[in-house]
Amino acid sequence: MKKIQMVDLQSQYQKIKEEVDSAVVNVMGSAAFVNGPEVKEFTTELQDYLGAKHVIPCGNGTDALQIALMALGLKEGDEVITADFTFAATVEVIHLLKLKAVLVDVDYDTFTIDTEKLKAAITPNTKAIIPVHLFGQCANMEEVLKIAKEHNLYVVEDDAQAIGANYTFSDGTVKKSGTMGDIGCTSFFPSKNLGCYGDGGAIFTNSDELEYKIRGIVNHGMYKRYYHDEIGVNSRLDSVQAAILRIKLRKLNEYSAARNSAAEYYNKAFANHPNMLTPVKAAYTDHVFHQYTLRILNGKRNELQAFLAEKEIPAMIYYPVALRKQKAYFQESNDVDFVNTDKLLDQVISLPMHTELDEEQLKYITDSVLEFMNK
Ligand SMILES: *Cc1c(COP(=O)(O)O)cnc(C)c1O
Repeated sequence: MKKIQMVDLQSQYQKIKEEVDSAVVNVMGSAAFVNGPEVKEFTTELQDYLGAKHVIPCGNGTDALQIALMALGLKEGDEVITADFTFAATVEVIHLLKLKAVLVDVDYDTFTIDTEKLKAAITPNTKAIIPVHLFGQCANMEEVLKIAKEHNLYVVEDDAQAIGANYTFSDGTVKKSGTMGDIGCTSFFPSKNLGCYGDGGAIFTNSDELEYKIRGIVNHGMYKRYYHDEIGVNSRLDSVQAAILRIKLRKLNEYSAARNSAAEYYNKAFANHPNMLTPVKAAYTDHVFHQYTLRILNGKRNELQAFLAEKEIPAMIYYPVALRKQKAYFQESNDVDFVNTDKLLDQVISLPMHTELDEEQLKYITDSVLEFMNK
């Protein structure tokens, strides 16, 4: 059996090696390493794929979030609401910009922001909401957008984990994750669903005004060469990464389908187990399974992880600590009513999930999990 990994980028690369190698060599030959034709082509192709009016590439997903918040022109102390159960970057950038991070609980089944608690957290100082499309499915965007409209708030989607997922609104309209709010942000970190071979990120928007601002901010606040209208950053996607991303974007739907097949295999094996809950997909969204995350109900999640490690099956706890409890982000005022997050911290375990899992590996993983859980 092939060695099991959380994410098997080597096997995936072997299948596209010829195309990738020749694309990389071409960039070397062109010497257009930054903002070359590959970046422009990729940007257009991603716009078409997403149905987004504008895609602005940048250095990584964390930059994307920071630049998005900078583009909104928020002032020190303005409040930004996001979920307590997410990767730290979402909250880190809020603090970096001296805005106030207001963290709220997530829904127990979907792991995405609890919209009732979101509503309750709104104050006159609230300016923006960052719904995180965690583990590969969209947050309840219809509700988030409704709340945002009622209270005149910006919506910045953290789409680092769900690129390619479709969201269906109650009127039947279908949109891609990251294109529903004012701004969408994604990451092309190697292990993400659309990953490059280094760092990369992108910002999406349908607003011409925001696009103009964002394009300036990613490039030192420069709208005319050597005229700096505001303080920006230096954040760009290089041409080698863009060339690789063009190849992988063409395969993204195929990759999402492969992840869904693996998830189906897991779901079937674990269905109706008294001590395990399989991932719950909300009706309004596709799932692109950035992670396949079980909830273990018998209190033996850590033992299960150790048991699997002995069998050389990696499994990860995303995330072990609530962001509100992290030393860097601790705020007394945030520490209320996080029943779901707190339960999830003790229950979640993510199994290997990637595009190259074969049946032999899936059988070995599911047999091993069940061996432990049925002991
Ligand atoms: C990966 C990730 C980010 C940050 O992306 P980087 O490219 O690593 O900076 C932000 N938010 C979420 C939810 C992520 O998973």
